[in-house]
Amino acid sequence: MSLERKPFSLVDLQAREVHYLRLSVTDRCNYRCTYCMPAEGVDVVPRAELLTFDEIEHLTRVFVGLGVRKVRMTGGEPMVRRGITDLVGQLARIPGLEDLAMTTNGHLLASLAEPLRAAGLARLNVSLDTLNPQRFAQIARRDGLADVLRGLDAARAAGFASIKLNTVVMRGVNDDELGQLADFAAEHGFVARFIESMPIGAGASLTPESFVSAADMRARLAQTHELAQDLLHGHPGGGPARYWLARPRSGGPVARIGFISAISERFCQLCNRVRLSSTGTLRECLSLAGELSLRDLLRAGASDEAIAAAIATALNTKVDGHRFDAAVATPDNMSAIGG
Ligand code: SAM
Ligand code: SF4
Repeated sequence: MSLERKPFSLVDLQAREVHYLRLSVTDRCNYRCTYCMPAEGVDVVPRAELLTFDEIEHLTRVFVGLGVRKVRMTGGEPMVRRGITDLVGQLARIPGLEDLAMTTNGHLLASLAEPLRAAGLARLNVSLDTLNPQRFAQIARRDGLADVLRGLDAARAAGFASIKLNTVVMRGVNDDELGQLADFAAEHGFVARFIESMPIGAGASLTPESFVSAADMRARLAQTHELAQDLLHGHPGGGPARYWLARPRSGGPVARIGFISAISERFCQLCNRVRLSSTGTLRECLSLAGELSLRDLLRAGASDEAIAAAIATALNTKVDGHRFDAAVATPDNMSAIGG
């Protein structure tokens, strides 16, 4: 493939430069988190419609040719896709791709951490909403806390460059655990991230009362921790998290905490990413369904230049801000989008 001439680049009409691709590798999941999927009745995509590993690699090369430098594999649960270690190996070998990461629920991490690291995965985000096993089973609708904790141990031993913990904070569910989760992260060398729930798919049926803003999270945490904004590294890489430091008043290591506040402090003007669904549809904004099928282009025999041109053109319709509050907002569950 040759993309030496670069007639297209990924800059949208708000002058936002895209260098980050979130790649959903499956819509299937072994959990049913309340904020992400309904308990039952989720239609999964027929396997023939999923991008194959070779198609994922091919499209990723086109994105890298357009200036993408970072890829995060997500899902659904990426570790339930059979052969995921092979896919990591394929992507890790793409010249020009500087950063390969994965977001996972951690359920299968204990056995996969070491092979994934060896295959070239550099960084991990692991979802962890609670340290209480009963609560975990209520939120994920499946027992799993012990497996996730074993997975985190294995990930530390495997030597990932960074491991972050993602917590979706819900009032009356886990908002009383922020201090404990921060301390757990600090003690193990993880970065904690507290996420505002977003009204996407099943997440839209959470009660409005369960929403906790990032400011409320900090107020809650301030009861037990001294907080200071991380002015040096407050917003690394142009990502959505704003980082703070939290020192337990009772003593102990300082936690680094990223707050992801898509609703109360929207960060769309800094958006640097696009998403590719497991079936190959480009999604320019998390909150809106995409229309361009890169899989169909690829399967119809389009050249890399034609695919690159289609991506660059689609970026012209990237909205200036999310549409969570509008009637056009996506009905998809987050499991079909990848977060
Ligand atoms: N299965 C993997 C996991 O859970 O980490 C990856 C996919 S999951 C859709 C990606 C991220 O989206 C997770 O950190 C999850 O907590 C987050 N997420 C899912 N639904 C959400 C919602 N309604 N609001 C905010 N975050 C959500
Ligand atoms: Fe599965 Fe992740 Fe969604 Fe939970 S958040 S149901 S683990 S895709």
